[in-house]
Amino acid sequence: MNASVLPIKQDSQEVIMVQTMPREPLDRKARMKIPHQPVPMQPPEQRIHNFEEVCLGYDAQTAMIEAMRCLRCPQPKCSQACPLHNDIPRAMKFIAEGDFLAAAAVYEETSNLPQICGRVCPQERLCEGACVRSKREEPVALGKLEAFVSDYKREHGTFTFTPPPPTGRKVAVIGSGPAGLSAADELVKRGHAVTIFERWPYPGGLLVYGIPRFKLPLRVVEAKIEELKQKGVQFRCNTCVGKDMPFEELLENFDAVFIAVGANYPVPLKVPGADLKGIYTANDWLVRSHVPPELRPETLRTPLEVGKHVAVIGGGDTAMDCARTALRLGCETSTIYYRRTEVEMPGNKRERALAAEEGVRFEYLVAPVRFIGNDEGHVKAMELIRMELGEPDESGRRRPIPIEGSEFTVPIDTVVLALGYWPEPMWEELGKKLGLETHDWGLLTVDPETGATSLPGVFAGGDAVVGPDLVSTAMASARRAAVAIDQYLAEKASVAA
Ligand SMILES: Cc1cc2nc3c(=O)[nH]c(=O)nc-3n(C[C@H](O)[C@H](O)[C@H](O)COP(=O)(O)OP(=O)(O)OC[C@H]3O[C@@H](n4cnc5c(N)ncnc54)[C@H](O)[C@@H]3O)c2cc1C
Repeated sequence: MNASVLPIKQDSQEVIMVQTMPREPLDRKARMKIPHQPVPMQPPEQRIHNFEEVCLGYDAQTAMIEAMRCLRCPQPKCSQACPLHNDIPRAMKFIAEGDFLAAAAVYEETSNLPQICGRVCPQERLCEGACVRSKREEPVALGKLEAFVSDYKREHGTFTFTPPPPTGRKVAVIGSGPAGLSAADELVKRGHAVTIFERWPYPGGLLVYGIPRFKLPLRVVEAKIEELKQKGVQFRCNTCVGKDMPFEELLENFDAVFIAVGANYPVPLKVPGADLKGIYTANDWLVRSHVPPELRPETLRTPLEVGKHVAVIGGGDTAMDCARTALRLGCETSTIYYRRTEVEMPGNKRERALAAEEGVRFEYLVAPVRFIGNDEGHVKAMELIRMELGEPDESGRRRPIPIEGSEFTVPIDTVVLALGYWPEPMWEELGKKLGLETHDWGLLTVDPETGATSLPGVFAGGDAVVGPDLVSTAMASARRAAVAIDQYLAEKASVAA
């Protein structure tokens, strides 16, 4: 590679001079020779003592080199695999040229939360999994590059938003997770007045009250909330629709409603002793360890009691997050107990690798049968039964079958239940009352193209429709619904005219 000095385009006066950079354009052969640039991470022995972001992120020079590895495939599989169909090769071209603001703008064409997706999307099974380079070597680090340019934009870019002419139409959004925030963003851009109703004290949904800070710093979400406020989105927090305010009131006062309430009701574990002290749901555990007390509801402000030996029950990403959190809270051992094997685990492989690197232990093919308490009613041990795998069940994974007589007991002081989530039961009841169609314990039934529910003017998206899924899929469904809501409002206006 030729050594050269390459100016990076910036919005500010300052021009960073990057030494020893190759000049674009390089041909495909030359790109193939560029080695993967690993992103710096906090070492495991350091990061288990803090809640700071594990990934330290690229600097400008390394980001440019990594982006040069993109082969600019004419039919990019990475973009096809992205639920939002981000134009990844175009973004990579801008990054490789050092035009980070232009790259950030490419992501913003198709995504409302690139700074978040770059950090939390399971890229290994989306864009990076589809990268042609991944067949033989490390794929281009597409996620980390997306996060890099989005952070660059936040730090160096200027906020510009020209409000469109107001349509005079009002839309209520219920829930402020990725689906609610994205729908609101798309609807204000189209001139509608948007109010988000949120039951928690602060907006963000699982971005704030689920995903831990070592994966997604709070400041990143806060910046998006501030941006939406500047665009005119109104937030009404501490307002649970259906409890603090009747759903019917929204139907009367707004021209359209978007339901984005997620699926956050924890699946219970029905075994004796599950109500002992020291046993937490994943929601309680994560909120009480990561969320600043002033942003928590009053019921979750008391500190957690963390024992020496923490058992996390479950095998998904939430279980991984809880077990990694336990280490940061100072326990001696943090162990995941899962009833199948690693092959059937639903979560992200990379997350699992990070957890193992930090010292999380894994016990496969076991399930708790009861929890044993001490005289104060606090959990002190857990009885487990060993499992074997049978035929595949409806999920396609092999069914775990208990092995009779294989019970054994382990001493434990803290348990976290991370068994998955259901939709809030309220929506099934409300659905019956109002004619809002639901299925599978209260998931909302919608037209998959538009998010339209069975009630005219009421749309839905995100986990509330499909069950627990991903930030990117929640955003994608919200963006589709926003287009349909806009169309619905335009039709309503033309009928009224
Ligand atoms: C611990 C954990 C870690 C995760 N990690 C990842 C990850 O790394 N990558 C990834 O892509 N996905 C991850 N996910 C999944 C991802 O967070 C969700 O798929 C996504 O947040 C769904 O977005 P949503 O907007 O549909 O719902 P949510 O984010 O759940 O937001 C719903 C919002 O609606 C509010 N609400 C509910 N009912 C009402 C009501 N009646 N009135 C007013 N407000 C209401 C809730 O308080 C909440 O704020 C994780 C999930 C968890 C639990």
